[in-house]
Amino acid sequence: MSNKSENIKSRILSPMILVGAVLILVSLTGGYRLQKNAIDNSVHQRISGGYSLFKGLLQEEIKVMSGQIDFLKTDQTLLASFLVGDRSILAYKARSFFERMHSKYRITHFYFHETDKTCFLRVHSPNRHGDLIDRFTIAGAVSTGKPYHGIELGPLGTFTLRVVHPWIVDDKLVGYIELGMEIEHISQFIKQALNLELLVLIEKKFLERNKWEDGLKILGRKGNWDLFPDFVIIDQTIEGSVVLNEIIGSHQNQNDHDSIFSVELTNRHYKGQFKDLTDVGGRSVGDFIFLMDITVQHTDLVKLTLIITGLFLVIGGSLFLFFNSYIGGIQTRLITSRKKLQSEIKVRRQSEEALTRSEKRFRSIFEASKDAIVSMDKEGILQMVNPAGMELLNLTDSDLGLINFRDLYVDSAMHRSFLAKIHKQGFIRDFGTQLHTKDNKDMDCLMTFTTKLSDEGELINYEGIVRDVTPFKIMEEELRRLATKDPLTGINNRRNFLDLAQIEMNRSKRYEHPFSLIMLDIDHFKNVNDTYGHSAGDEVLKEFCGICLKAIRESDIMGRLGGEEFVVALMECDKNAVMIMAERIRKAIASHKMLIGSEEIRITTSVGVAQAQPDCDLKSMLERADRALYQAKEKGRNQVKFAS
Ligand code: GH3
Ligand code: MG
Ligand code: MG
Repeated sequence: MSNKSENIKSRILSPMILVGAVLILVSLTGGYRLQKNAIDNSVHQRISGGYSLFKGLLQEEIKVMSGQIDFLKTDQTLLASFLVGDRSILAYKARSFFERMHSKYRITHFYFHETDKTCFLRVHSPNRHGDLIDRFTIAGAVSTGKPYHGIELGPLGTFTLRVVHPWIVDDKLVGYIELGMEIEHISQFIKQALNLELLVLIEKKFLERNKWEDGLKILGRKGNWDLFPDFVIIDQTIEGSVVLNEIIGSHQNQNDHDSIFSVELTNRHYKGQFKDLTDVGGRSVGDFIFLMDITVQHTDLVKLTLIITGLFLVIGGSLFLFFNSYIGGIQTRLITSRKKLQSEIKVRRQSEEALTRSEKRFRSIFEASKDAIVSMDKEGILQMVNPAGMELLNLTDSDLGLINFRDLYVDSAMHRSFLAKIHKQGFIRDFGTQLHTKDNKDMDCLMTFTTKLSDEGELINYEGIVRDVTPFKIMEEELRRLATKDPLTGINNRRNFLDLAQIEMNRSKRYEHPFSLIMLDIDHFKNVNDTYGHSAGDEVLKEFCGICLKAIRESDIMGRLGGEEFVVALMECDKNAVMIMAERIRKAIASHKMLIGSEEIRITTSVGVAQAQPDCDLKSMLERADRALYQAKEKGRNQVKFAS
């Protein structure tokens, strides 16, 4: 996914740029071609117009000359001179007509021909006559017997529009009258009227070089016979150029009249077209080249192309920038969300793995735990119990979902206490209680439970651990016993006696009740050890304690101070009572027969008694009792002494 998605921008933008570029190119070339075609069309129309105008103008001139001939034919003086064959009179008479027609209608040729086409008179050149005229126009008039006209190429390389009329008098042909005019002015007129430049080309085969070059001199024109191999330019409204010459040269080979060509002349743009130039005999003698100045259109086209290109570039550039940033934004968001997704997937995978691991761990803990792990619903019905729990609570699989944990309590008050505590704080730790075990023994337990709540805070279930602490309880009891009892005799050791006696002494003081101590020491005990052995001495010590405990009340506290020295704390005993008690103990010991093996022995004990004084403490009381005991020993043993 990585590289592909990260290149989304270039993957979208590249085709867009390509398509955009193609569209721009197509529109530009399309627009350019359309515009160019429009220009070509207008050129074509204008040039066709020019060509038609040329032909139309010729017709106008023909009408003018026909009118003039008709007028000449009516002149009797001309007719008379012609009929009598008086050339000089005719020349004289016709001269004024010719001058008027020349100045008014640009007529340059004025002939009288005889019926056999012999030239009788050239009014415009009276000295040349008697030659046979071999031209299409006169031939046409002769053959048709009607007026004939057309342009004809002269030997000097000029075109002359000629009109020849048969001269018929009283239904009899007497000769021919011909008028002609040079047609250079027409090209100038077309140039001015239609703003078209015109070049007239004549094929060399219709000309003779000498005569043509002579004609140039006579007419005061410039021309170059050698410019093109096959033809010469006989008339032009604009100076040519090398490029135009090349175009003309290649056109001559192709003879293509419809195609429009472009050329640059004197820094202006022209479009041109060739038009066929045929003379009156129907011969294609050369070509017209019409040139239309399209500099303005060309400049407009270039400008338009530049503007459109600029517009396309600006719009395309803006679109590119917009899409670049827009798609860039999308791409960035895609990459970011992909990364986020990947890291989320990674985290999820890790947490799934962790979950599986922890599930396994907890499963193994659940399965292998020696403590009971228990889950019950909010009513207390057992839902899930691990194997240890099943065994501990004597359950089978069929019990799950049926048995209520409440019924397992030995004391139902403990169940209420459990609920009160766990509902108050959401959990309970080391809650000590007793539960029924499978063999119907009561089991000391520590329970640690939490409540599970829904998102709405509603209780779903309870989960926790039940630990059987019965062995610990027993051990605890034993430890407590070891810590507080004398291991040999089982009565309170010195420290525990002092603790208990202190509590009772405090209480007695508080209530101002009497409190007394009786201190006992076995007389000559060393002898017992020495005589019967140490273990026999131990047995004597145990028996001694048993006799004392029988003698005292249950509420009295007896302890071993050390060796064969004991003490009893008595509550609610005044001096009399305690002295009676001490005496009773002494007598009980002294009267008791002890069996060591098979031997009977008797022991005695000396006793010191002390009574609590208002300001005394336990320590000073013990000292006083000890002093009283010492006095009893001093006075001969086996007697009771009261500490004063
Ligand atoms: P008196 O009448 O002056 O008290 O003489 P006595 O021999 O009882 O006193 P003494 O203090 O000289 O001796 C006490 C003896 O008690 C010494 C010791 O070996 C013995 N004794 C102390 N504790 C134990 C014990 O736990 N077991 C046994 N068998 N003997 C003990
Ligand atoms: Mg002693
Ligand atoms: Mg002793």
